[in-house]
Amino acid sequence: MRLTIREIFDLPPDGRGVTVKGWVRTKRETKSAVFLEVNDGSRMGNIQCVFDEVGTAKAAAELARVGTGASVCVEGLLLPSPATGQKLEVQASSLSVIGEAPADSYPLQKKAHSMEFLREIAHLRPRTNTFGAVARVRNRMAFAVHQFFQERGFNYVHTPIITTSDAEGAGEMFQVTTLDLAKIAAKGGPVDYSKDFFGKAASLTVSGQLNVETYCQALGRVYTFGPTFRAENSNTTRHLSEFWMIEPEVAFNDIRDNMDLAEDFLKQLARVALSDCAEDLAFFDQRIQNGLVDMLTKMEAAPFARMTYGDAVKELEKKPEAFEFKPYWGCDLQSEHEKFLTEKVVGGPLIVTDYPKEIKAFYMKLNDDGKTVRAMDVLVPRFGEIIGGSEREERLDVLEKRIADLGLDKSVYWWYLDLRRFGTTPHSGFGLGFERLLLYITGMANIRDVIPFPRAPKLADF
Ligand code: ATP
Ligand code: MN
Repeated sequence: MRLTIREIFDLPPDGRGVTVKGWVRTKRETKSAVFLEVNDGSRMGNIQCVFDEVGTAKAAAELARVGTGASVCVEGLLLPSPATGQKLEVQASSLSVIGEAPADSYPLQKKAHSMEFLREIAHLRPRTNTFGAVARVRNRMAFAVHQFFQERGFNYVHTPIITTSDAEGAGEMFQVTTLDLAKIAAKGGPVDYSKDFFGKAASLTVSGQLNVETYCQALGRVYTFGPTFRAENSNTTRHLSEFWMIEPEVAFNDIRDNMDLAEDFLKQLARVALSDCAEDLAFFDQRIQNGLVDMLTKMEAAPFARMTYGDAVKELEKKPEAFEFKPYWGCDLQSEHEKFLTEKVVGGPLIVTDYPKEIKAFYMKLNDDGKTVRAMDVLVPRFGEIIGGSEREERLDVLEKRIADLGLDKSVYWWYLDLRRFGTTPHSGFGLGFERLLLYITGMANIRDVIPFPRAPKLADF
């Protein structure tokens, strides 16, 4: 196979012949030479192809057709570069334009484009430095997620995407149906879901947790990594309607083990990004978020702060004037609270535990105080929650009472309750939103810019 530009940069610049294929980022002409900066996505940096007087004369016809965005094939000799900041260049002897990109219509000319504009051309934005880097980091992080768990004996479990148990997210689920709703509406309803494809109402999953717990109670260490859907109408920079979630679940782990696992996991991901995505992270540090590399390096080395919800609220109550939403014991922590705690109180990641049961899911283990549950959220500076998890309630009677108290229908959870009926164990797990992780690792400001084709309210183009 042809070498990529990344691979060519690993070769010695000893005058050997090379073939470069990629897309032109810039064309620059001086009196004595023409310079093409070519990129093929294999790395952030371009390779400079220099056409000296002889080369220019030979390739004159093709050089006239080439501009930013064109795809090309360049042949020449690999030599040390006299220019600063690049160790090698190609002394080009021939050029062929594979596909032109007319300057008057190609939208990505050599200038800074806004993120908003680039979102409107999501099919072309991977050709920019920023989105190329995001894509490479996203790829490396996905692999690192699997590496982390596989090295520790976890089994990757594929939980379903279509579900008929409206497990946790009532009201936040996308419906899945093959019924002709327009026809039913025209007749004046009602909708009979027994006639629907699955014989009952179905939707897209909001979490793989309940399903993966079943495999946890057989295989011990398991995780999911798949798409997740939430129909919440939140137009924030931290929410997508379709995102990817990683959910490990471990039998016999208590909340302390769970916190340690989450912390090790995030640190390992940061370590991999720093070592294997150094060129891309240097770019993000310079152009997107100053101090990013330093922040990740520090995070990777220092223990995460830990605090109960009660103590967190006390910290917030010292500064009520700092918040739009006044904090009090029992309130759901808002993003402004989470940011304050991480940025102003502890100056780094923070794990908050033992939330009031009213604001957390039914399956979280009730503490002896009867008021709080063994929940743990990992919060980070800039945007707050990155991980939400808990020790699970393994006592059948307590879990049944929680379901009843919340007015949920016990019969829906029969198989989930069976896990507590037959060989129940303490167990714990958490959910990491993959795009939240990428916001953290890249310093990008908007979650819509760390997934190739974002889905959000009124947004499902491309
Ligand atoms: P938030 O309070 O930030 O809306 P949540 O508490 O609803 O999040 P969980 O149900 O705990 O989220 O989901 C686990 C993880 O999934 C979160 O910690 C977050 O990283 C991620 N996540 C949740 N909702 C979204 C979303 N709409 N878009 C992207 N990631 C999400
Ligand atoms: Mn949460």
